[in-house]
Amino acid sequence: MRYLYELGSSYANPEVRKALQHYYGVLTSKEPAWYRVAKRIEVKIEGSLEDLWKLHNEKSKEMMELRNVKLDWVESRPPASPNYLDLKAEIAKRMLKSCRFCEWKCQLDRTQRRGVCRLDYRSRVSSFFHHFGEEPPLVGSTGSGTIFFTGCNFRCVFCQNWDISQNAYNGMETDPKTLASIIKVLAGDRCLNINLVGGEPTPNLHTILSALTQVDINIPILWNSNMYMSEETMKLISDIIDIWLPDFKYGNDECALRLSAIRNYTFVVKRNHKWAGEMGDMIIRHLVLPNHLECCTIPILDWIAENLPGRLVNIMAQYRPEYLVARYPEKFPEISRRPYLSEMERAYNYAKSKGIIYEPVS
Ligand code: SF4
Repeated sequence: MRYLYELGSSYANPEVRKALQHYYGVLTSKEPAWYRVAKRIEVKIEGSLEDLWKLHNEKSKEMMELRNVKLDWVESRPPASPNYLDLKAEIAKRMLKSCRFCEWKCQLDRTQRRGVCRLDYRSRVSSFFHHFGEEPPLVGSTGSGTIFFTGCNFRCVFCQNWDISQNAYNGMETDPKTLASIIKVLAGDRCLNINLVGGEPTPNLHTILSALTQVDINIPILWNSNMYMSEETMKLISDIIDIWLPDFKYGNDECALRLSAIRNYTFVVKRNHKWAGEMGDMIIRHLVLPNHLECCTIPILDWIAENLPGRLVNIMAQYRPEYLVARYPEKFPEISRRPYLSEMERAYNYAKSKGIIYEPVS
């Protein structure tokens, strides 16, 4: 049971409470974290990967019907064995043999080789701690229990976490049992949520799902991601993630290709934002890049206003030239400075004119 002061001042804001209804339901012990519901759905795990997907499709309907249960329902029954979450973990484990976790769809056997994300089957965690720099509803007075995985499927030239995103070895090898222990420590230390980030959590899907099968604590699970997941990954996680922290970086594919080396960005990221928005609570993040108002910020805000009304949006001003932009500013002249105040004001005013609820979300 949590003390109200732990939730922070955001909880007093009715707009924020409305946008994050399930998240606060879990935090106030009214609702179960959804991965715990998945653990109460019995399944029989046998057959080929195709058979498991068929079973997953069937059981996902049962899961959808149960996502409205109250916490008592979960607390009054032990996890089934094996269960729907075990099924997800098994599917992810088998997918490693021909990885399609993200839209790169490398289809490599990660037990033998490393994909574009530079990760083989091993996950590594660079750090985990009470993070007080996230959005106010995620931090409260006890912090967000943030776990930084190494490795990333993007190559952002301005990455602020490049030391871990581009160096997959810059962390401790972390198997599911160890990750489960980390989650238990953060939850036991009263962090408000388990914040899965990196780098990028997506290439670590198999470790994350297996770890969750070993935990049964009522804490919201937060997916903090670039949203380049494949449809298969979205099927595996969309019904068990309690709150999404998706990054919407670019308003067009040319900027995504030039600055993050990513193809087909807008199609994939819009699909996954909509999917996640239909399934759970979210705070969308958009980092304003200097000189990218017309091509990125404005189209993104237009799209959010039309497709995800009522969602919280963090319009972030903290861009600074880092990593390759800092090293080779002549190659990226338009983003080799911080955004001007006038650019941020334009972004905020535009969001306001579109009825978007933007930062500070407290
Ligand atoms: S997670 Fe993405 S980038 Fe990494 S191996 Fe799998 S498909 Fe490739």
